[in-house]
Amino acid sequence: MTKALIIGGGIGGPVAAMALQRAGIEPVVYEAYDRPADYAGLFLNIASNGLDALRAIDIDVAGRADGFPIPRLVMWSGTGKRLGEVANGVRLADGTVSMCVRRGLLQRVLREEAQGIAFEYGKRLESYTVTAGGVEARFADGTRAAGDILIGADGSHSRTRQILAPVSPEPSFTGLVSVGGYSHSASLAPTTNTQHLVFGKRAFFGYLVRESGEIYWFANLYYPDEPTRQSLAGVSVSEWKRRLTELFADDMPLIREIIDGTTGEIGAYPVHDIPTSPVWHRGPVALLGDAVHATSPNAGQGAALACEDAVVLAKCLRDLPDTASAFAAYERLRRARVEKVVAYSRRLGNAKTAGPVARFFRDLMMPLALKIFANEKAHAWMYTHHIDWNEKVGSA
Ligand SMILES: Cc1cc2nc3c(=O)[nH]c(=O)nc-3n(C[C@H](O)[C@H](O)[C@H](O)COP(=O)(O)OP(=O)(O)OC[C@H]3O[C@@H](n4cnc5c(N)ncnc54)[C@H](O)[C@@H]3O)c2cc1C
Repeated sequence: MTKALIIGGGIGGPVAAMALQRAGIEPVVYEAYDRPADYAGLFLNIASNGLDALRAIDIDVAGRADGFPIPRLVMWSGTGKRLGEVANGVRLADGTVSMCVRRGLLQRVLREEAQGIAFEYGKRLESYTVTAGGVEARFADGTRAAGDILIGADGSHSRTRQILAPVSPEPSFTGLVSVGGYSHSASLAPTTNTQHLVFGKRAFFGYLVRESGEIYWFANLYYPDEPTRQSLAGVSVSEWKRRLTELFADDMPLIREIIDGTTGEIGAYPVHDIPTSPVWHRGPVALLGDAVHATSPNAGQGAALACEDAVVLAKCLRDLPDTASAFAAYERLRRARVEKVVAYSRRLGNAKTAGPVARFFRDLMMPLALKIFANEKAHAWMYTHHIDWNEKVGSA
C-alpha cells in the first residue's frame, strides 16, 4: 500500500489524510505543535463549498464543533449608517449555508473523524530528501519517517514549499493585521444568522452575538509595514484594548463596548496571501491549502479551498496510474480556481483600508455595490463548486 507522509495537522492535512485513506493510501499526519490545540485560535467561516467538499468524503461538520450558520452579512458605515446586506455565500440546493466555527474545535472534529489515522505531534518538518523508494522526512526532534509520497499541508509559511521550490516568492503581506477575540455584553441582543460588518473611519470591524450572549469579534487594521508575529504577540490584552478603542473612537459606540468586554486573549495575525506559486509539486512531493495558495480571510475561503484541494488530490492519486500524472492532474484541476479566489479575496480587503476620500465614495456607492454583490449568480462559481467523489479523474 502507498504510504503518504502528510506534513501539517491544521485543516487541509487531516482532510487529505481521510480522503487518501478512502483512496486506498496509508496516511500519517505529522504536526509541529506538541499536542492537539482543541481550544486554540479564533473562529472562522467555512464556506458552503468547503462543507460540500467535506461531504464528498462523508464528513459532516454542520452542527458539530459548536458551529452555527451565518447566512447573512449586514454592512454598516462607522457612523452607523446601514449600507445594506448580502448573503454570506450562496445557499446550496440541499440548504447548506456558510458556517462559523472555532478553529480549535473544528480541528478536534476533523481529528475525531480521522478514525484509525495516525497523528504524530511535536514533529516539525526540517527537511526531506527524495530517495530511490520515495521520500524521507527529517524532523526537528531528530526523528525520520519514510514514505512513498509527501504532502505539504503546513500552512502559509510552509517548510515543505521552501524545500520543494527554494526560489518561490514568500507569502505577500496584504497590509492588514487581523485582531479578534470573544466578548460579552448585557446590552446587545443575539444577531441570529447574521454577522455585522462595519467600515469604520480607521479600521474594519466584524461581530456577531450568539444566543448565549457570547460575542465573536474581529478587526482588520491597516499596517503600512509588515509587523512580525512576535511583535504582535508581545502586545498585552490591555494594550490592544487601548489601541483599538482609540482606532474606533469615531465609530459606533457598540464597537468600543464589545472590545472593552473582551474576556480572555486577543489574537493578532498579519494577513498574507500567495497570489501564485510557480511549483505545486515535484517528484513524490505536492503542496496543498495555504502552503501553495494562502488566501486572505476577506472572502472566508481559505479553509474551504484546503478541503477541496485535499479531496481532489486524493481522487487524482486514486484514479491515475502514477504519482507524476496524478500530481499534474491535481494542479490542472485546482490552480485556476484557487488563484481566482485569492485575487478576489485581496480585492475585498482593499476596500477595508480606504482613505478619507475613498471612504466617502465607498459609503456612497456601497448600497449599489451591495445590490450587485447580492446577485447570487455572480458568486456561484465560488460557493457552489461541487466535487463528486465517485466521478473518475481523466489524465488529460
Ligand atoms: C486571522 C485569520 C482569519 C481567517 N479566517 C478565515 C475564515 O473565516 N474562513 C476561512 O476559510 N479561512 C480563514 N482563514 C484562512 C484559513 O485559516 C486557512 O486558509 C486554512 O487554515 C488553511 O488550512 P491549511 O491546512 O492549509 O493550513 P493551516 O490551517 O495553517 O495548517 C497548517 C498546519 O501545519 C503545521 N505546520 C507548520 N509548519 C510545520 C512543519 N514544518 N512541520 C509540521 N507541521 C507544520 C501548523 O502548526 C498547522 O497546524 C483565516 C486566516 C487568518 C490568519
